[in-house]
Amino acid sequence: MTAALHTGGCRCGAVRFTAHAEPHHVSYCHCGDCRQATGAPVSAFVGFAAEAVAFSGEPPKPFENGPVTRSFCATCGSPIVYADERLAGSLWFMLGAMDRPETFEPTLHAYVSEQLPYVHMPDGLPRHERSSVTRPAETYR
Ligand SMILES: [Zn+2]
Ligand SMILES: [Zn+2]
Repeated sequence: MTAALHTGGCRCGAVRFTAHAEPHHVSYCHCGDCRQATGAPVSAFVGFAAEAVAFSGEPPKPFENGPVTRSFCATCGSPIVYADERLAGSLWFMLGAMDRPETFEPTLHAYVSEQLPYVHMPDGLPRHERSSVTRPAETYR
């Protein structure tokens, strides 16, 4: 068994996960869908290869919205992860669900076209109008 490099979970501890690889993606997202799903003005995600991830404890409860399935803890409600069927093979965890969020520094902003006007993050990172990852058929929004 490969040692877990990274761990995380919800705030009540019912959902736990491990990743035995480094993330391939760490980013902020300013889109309205993330905003509604999390309640926060800005979201941040850590993307791992799905094959590197293992869940334990309670399975997170999924909510499907088109091609995107977001999952959360059914007990405490913490958003945990999303999957996008157009980006098969990856799982995108909420940065705040990681046990050591300080070790995942975002490298870009996505969906700045939907950024709230009073959010100012002058960090010099690349800013994408929409998705930072090309979907096979760009039909999303
Ligand atoms: Zn929980
Ligand atoms: Zn988003």
